[in-house]
Amino acid sequence: MNVILLGPPGAGKGTQAAQLRRRWPLPHISTGAMLREAIRSGTPLGREVKQVIEGGGLIDDEVMTRLVTDRLSQRDAAAGFWLDGYPRTIPQAQCLDQFMQGRQPLVVVDIALSDAEVLHRLASRLVCEECGTNAQDTGADPRCHNCGGRLVPRVDDADTIVRNRLEVYRRQTAPLIEYYAGRPTFHQVNGAQLPDDVTLEIIRAIEATRSS
Ligand code: AMP
Repeated sequence: MNVILLGPPGAGKGTQAAQLRRRWPLPHISTGAMLREAIRSGTPLGREVKQVIEGGGLIDDEVMTRLVTDRLSQRDAAAGFWLDGYPRTIPQAQCLDQFMQGRQPLVVVDIALSDAEVLHRLASRLVCEECGTNAQDTGADPRCHNCGGRLVPRVDDADTIVRNRLEVYRRQTAPLIEYYAGRPTFHQVNGAQLPDDVTLEIIRAIEATRSS
């Protein structure tokens, strides 16, 4: 099962992929996490993308498509994947469609969330320095529940950068909803619910596709 999770920054794509993996244990491929790992490790790719990510812009379609198609070609993704953060532009979606020819159809889940809710959520989002797990700032000791690592704000979650990311989302990524909306495997869910309720809505939507 090949699933794309769409949605604005902060919609919960990463959180949902982590939850959904318990139901369907496919690899969670997060392009943002791959790029942040490249920055942390100081690879040539990391050095190339650091400034753009920290400003809330998008990395070149060509660089991203190479990164993703290499990852999707690995053996663990042959039975399917949860793809989070790609595609983010129409050209990326076209490249992915080309790459997917001869494979199972893409299931597309759009997690909808208002701008106001995005700004509210990201103002208190923390991320683990060690493993990248997301958390909310509760004012208590900021330790990761997954690995005990230190929780810190993401550089690109600063208010002005989030506003830029939302603008980029509106211009470049939101048109993907129309791109996929006519497909029988497209689903839209309400992201402004408790995470477990969003997960249930996604599971129901995917199961409806699989049984039809
Ligand atoms: P995310 O963790 O998905 O919010 O991604 C963090 C940042 O990585 C984005 O703001 C972009 O700068 C970059 N990025 C991630 N995925 C893509 C993509 N498919 N195309 C272009 N840039 C991307």
